[in-house]
Amino acid sequence: MSSPLFDSHLHTPLCGHATGAPREYAQAALDAGLTGLCFTDHCPMPAWYDAPWRMRLDQLDQYVDEVRAVQDEFAGRLDVRLGLEADFHPGTERFVAGLLAAHDWDYVIGSVHYIGAWGFDNPEFVAEYEARDLDGLYTDYYALIEGAARSGLFDSIGHLDLPKKFGHRDPGGAAALRALDAVAGAGLALDFNTAGWRKPVAEAYPSPELVAEAVKRGIPFVLGSDAHQPGEVGFRFADAAALIADAGGRLVTYAGRVRQG
Ligand SMILES: [Zn+2]
Ligand SMILES: [Zn+2]
Repeated sequence: MSSPLFDSHLHTPLCGHATGAPREYAQAALDAGLTGLCFTDHCPMPAWYDAPWRMRLDQLDQYVDEVRAVQDEFAGRLDVRLGLEADFHPGTERFVAGLLAAHDWDYVIGSVHYIGAWGFDNPEFVAEYEARDLDGLYTDYYALIEGAARSGLFDSIGHLDLPKKFGHRDPGGAAALRALDAVAGAGLALDFNTAGWRKPVAEAYPSPELVAEAVKRGIPFVLGSDAHQPGEVGFRFADAAALIADAGGRLVTYAGRVRQG
């Protein structure tokens, strides 16, 4: 694999559900032979939205300071970048735009974790899948992804086919293709997220079929482990890079919100 491996989806304990100091994630990246990493912790959102699973707004400056300290400590050894995993949720766009203007981010992932009030990737609420029509669920989900792509807020879309996490696969596919058209039209990349290999579905996001469709549309990929502990940094990146290369896909990273490579 000639392309250097860079992990662009990582969390920190500020989100309330990750462990390990930021410098331990950086050390893990060095130990794994990566060229760099971009922290993308769950961004603050309005107080009514998903508060237990993210940093508070009054912690944002601390997050930036912590990442800057790791940048200084690893300077010359590891390329450490500052990003966010932001949520796309209708009604919160102005709040997110304010955050994005507040600091010099390198990379911003746009993720959909909620359909309406349902946090569909939360194991606590997995029973809700049985109450839903899967085809309708995916149609609603991918309509939100289209909204995220068109919002102009993000550099990439996070874990594209996330509702498959617990094994509830998309019975259709048309809505996913429309979402990919929107992603390509907006010039975004896709987070190739290896966390799916650690979940019940046992498949990275997006699926090989969606990777092929993304490649057809010229959409590049940004590698991410979605690490919530240092031991997950660079998780199965050799497999990910091989899968993307075999599909004819291209790996990129972002610095200063500009696509690299
Ligand atoms: Zn998380
Ligand atoms: Zn996520």
